[in-house]
Amino acid sequence: MAYDAILFDMDGVLLTGYHTDRAIYRRATATALADFGHDGESEDPPPALVDPDSVTDVRAVCDDLGVPAAPVWAYRERAATTVENESIAAGDRVAPPDADALDALAETHELGAVSNNRHGTARFVTDYFEFPMSVVRGRFPTLAEYGNRKPDPTYLEWALDRLDGEDVLFVGDRRSDVEAAHRADIDAALLARGGDPPEGSPDPEHHIESLTELTELR
Ligand SMILES: [Mg+2]
Repeated sequence: MAYDAILFDMDGVLLTGYHTDRAIYRRATATALADFGHDGESEDPPPALVDPDSVTDVRAVCDDLGVPAAPVWAYRERAATTVENESIAAGDRVAPPDADALDALAETHELGAVSNNRHGTARFVTDYFEFPMSVVRGRFPTLAEYGNRKPDPTYLEWALDRLDGEDVLFVGDRRSDVEAAHRADIDAALLARGGDPPEGSPDPEHHIESLTELTELR
């Protein structure tokens, strides 16, 4: 199949590093709790707020602390975005060399980024590295959005609604990216730059070791 649009995962695909450093979330969570009057939590914020498994965990720990979950969460997300964007601008995470292929791909395809990372960082990365994206979608700073992370297809479907292309490929580095693509009814390419893809299922339509291979995909 010839694709007319390609969507990319961000962490590990367009940006070095598997995900946001946990230290950033510890700092952002400590800042959020301190600004809601919980100075005692600033040294060692609750893990369920730093790296929650679910929205239920966030609500439970906020109930225990007596702070309102929705605004604390939004504040924590915004604080993390500020810290991580500064860190990227300082060179802590960079665009991998094969991201240079995006400029040539953009001449023949609509391109976009769809990330589980925060929307404010996805937008920043796209602008900072001058990626030629016509649509960008990360997670908005609400609790509901945290529950909609891939493999849920919500973010992909949002992006698909904003593309003109009909035959769309999603490129990710996790099996959950492949699952999200299939749940959104599009094909997936699983990127493994070392040539050793993550274990598990589902299987993608394409295995690639470099973004440069996308220029030859049919
Ligand atoms: Mg990734």
